[in-house]
Amino acid sequence: MSIPAIEGGTPVREKKIYYGHQYLDQADYDAVVDVLKSDYLTCGPKIGQLEEKLCKLTGAKYAVVCSNGTAALHMAAMAAGLTKGDELITTPITFAASANCALYVGAKPVFADIDDETYNIDPESVKEHINEKTKAVVAVDYTGQAVDLDRLLSICRENNLVLIEDGAHSIGTLYNNKPVGSIADMTTFSFHPVKTITGGEGGAVLTNNEEYYKKLLLARSHGITRESSLLENEPDGPWYYEQVDMGYNYRLTDIQCGLLISQLDKLEMFKKRRKQIVDMYNRAFNELDTVIVQKEIPQSDTARHLYILRLNTEKLRIDRRQFFDALAAENVICNVHYIPVYYFPHYQRLGYKKGLCPKAEKLYNDIISIPLYYGMTDEDVQSVIDAVKKISDYYRV
Ligand SMILES: *Cc1c(COP(=O)(O)O)cnc(C)c1O
Repeated sequence: MSIPAIEGGTPVREKKIYYGHQYLDQADYDAVVDVLKSDYLTCGPKIGQLEEKLCKLTGAKYAVVCSNGTAALHMAAMAAGLTKGDELITTPITFAASANCALYVGAKPVFADIDDETYNIDPESVKEHINEKTKAVVAVDYTGQAVDLDRLLSICRENNLVLIEDGAHSIGTLYNNKPVGSIADMTTFSFHPVKTITGGEGGAVLTNNEEYYKKLLLARSHGITRESSLLENEPDGPWYYEQVDMGYNYRLTDIQCGLLISQLDKLEMFKKRRKQIVDMYNRAFNELDTVIVQKEIPQSDTARHLYILRLNTEKLRIDRRQFFDALAAENVICNVHYIPVYYFPHYQRLGYKKGLCPKAEKLYNDIISIPLYYGMTDEDVQSVIDAVKKISDYYRV
């Protein structure tokens, strides 16, 4: 099945390049050490400082940072009041966590199909899946490009649904000049090292809604509060607190917050470089009829997290797997984002059948995530382009 480097040739790259890599500098190392030398490793002042910074960046009223993007989605589902018997509509072209957050609260994930050109969830397909049980939509800014927020918001308002934007890919993206994070009812971020900025692990939920904010705080820390307005009984001492709801330990450490505060200072620089790389790729690949360039909607000023090479398989003698292997033979080590969530055995056992979302399934068959990260040099980018062109020319129909 696997194919070796194209005959007679040496690989376009001598050294392997991978699809993603974090970028840290001395300021990041110093920020972490500063926290390590301080009084608070967790539950300290860095939490609030990071939250304030996220509010400033996005224009959201409230930010609640938490242990990871998955916890952020779980907390958002809880704050939205999702429970047993409810349904949540999402896309299959995402990381499993976007759908799992429904399962965590006993609700049912329902999969809407994607738009064939942007690869984001298709609002019209969302509309078709709404029924009396539907309570929320988790819309994923796939690759960092904002979903069609205007259309999704109007569908959600009409049907009394909560719009949760999974912005794991899209911190720094603007939609109609407004930052992602201030538009949907709640927006979640992830700070895993493959994402645009990192805390090692980390996540956040942003919202303008005070009620959601209060619920998010409880969800993050055991459902426990000391706030007098939330207590149900009289305190019997200064130590008093109550667990007033169900909650978890989804807190983020001050160490991670320190790193994230420092990483956030570089977000604009990261975005700019990522956009340059995307432009280089787009210019090169628009010339090829063997690959299809992802459509960018004019509303989205995208801080791109992933670059998706979509193969035009009709113009190629090889399939995605063979193209992927051929890239590896050129020392370009790629990945695929994503396997449709309902293909997984866990979802198959829950009764989801293949064939649910034909456009998403076709996309999955055709795509490869090629290297995109801040630290790539122009030579790196050119070598990836050269590898794609070399394979494309050789295996063109
Ligand atoms: C990474 C990711 C998540 C989960 O974030 P973690 O921080 O890894 O828990 C959720 N949704 C999408 C789209 C992601 O890419």
